[in-house]
Amino acid sequence: RGTPALRVTEWSDLVDWWPRLGASSEKYSRGVVGVATGSATYPGAAVLSVSGALAGPTGMVRYAGGARAEVLHQHPSVIATDRVAASGRVQAWVCGSGLGTGEESAAELRAVLAAPVPAVLDADALTLLVDGKLADRLRGRDAPIVVTPHDREYARLCGETPGADRVGAALRLAAWMNAVVLLKGDRTIIGTPDGRAYVNPTGTPVLATGGTGDVLAGLLGSLLAAGLAPERAAAAAAYLHGLAGREAARGGPVTAPDVATALRPVLARLP
Ligand code: AMP
Ligand code: MG
Repeated sequence: RGTPALRVTEWSDLVDWWPRLGASSEKYSRGVVGVATGSATYPGAAVLSVSGALAGPTGMVRYAGGARAEVLHQHPSVIATDRVAASGRVQAWVCGSGLGTGEESAAELRAVLAAPVPAVLDADALTLLVDGKLADRLRGRDAPIVVTPHDREYARLCGETPGADRVGAALRLAAWMNAVVLLKGDRTIIGTPDGRAYVNPTGTPVLATGGTGDVLAGLLGSLLAAGLAPERAAAAAAYLHGLAGREAARGGPVTAPDVATALRPVLARLP
């Protein structure tokens, strides 16, 4: 194969892709994102991914998982159930971080994969894909998947680390999984199964702190539910996440909730 089509995401791309509110918008037409993350053991992952989803352009967030009380306490606009299968009208799922890797978690992941809508798979969902040999289920799936590994998660999925050629690494995994791959790093790469790639220019090392990936996954789910094509949703989410990290750093040392909060002024700059 020749040189892959590689481009650096630009602000003007986001302006082109961004869904616009109209007078006839209502909460369902803006998109409903479902978040299946967190657990009684890791409620913070649920709260953070929901905060990322709420910052995005969708009209409603549904939470399905084991941290309902914490999520509702932090985010009263969310509709919460305890299972993916009990959540109606979801137009994209976010599944993974803090979910756990037991049989109940695997059942929730299978329910996400069975839903005919786009999905973001992160963290424990990636472990479950490998351990449960569920990766094959992605091949025949019609609705798009975006996987969001950092380097260790990539190595678990592929059996080898990404190495120096990170674009090639993202594209290999994308082709193998038939999924869009968002390979996290200081310059996050987005690769598609058909060999196109985006490089994100907005990364900042202040994002190297616990929980920021959960915020990213939630935002990405919102963009999918709002109807962006998966590689555009991934490129836009990475771009905005980086800008939010920079914005948050103006106020001092950054934690993951600060990144979610900073998404609001960043998104407000979009027309
Ligand atoms: P996670 O490891 O899942 O919490 O995700 C960490 C997030 O922080 C990802 O979006 C990474 O791209 C980002 N990140 C981590 N380290 C750096 C870095 N040194 N420079 C830029 N972004 C980073
Ligand atoms: Mg993570």
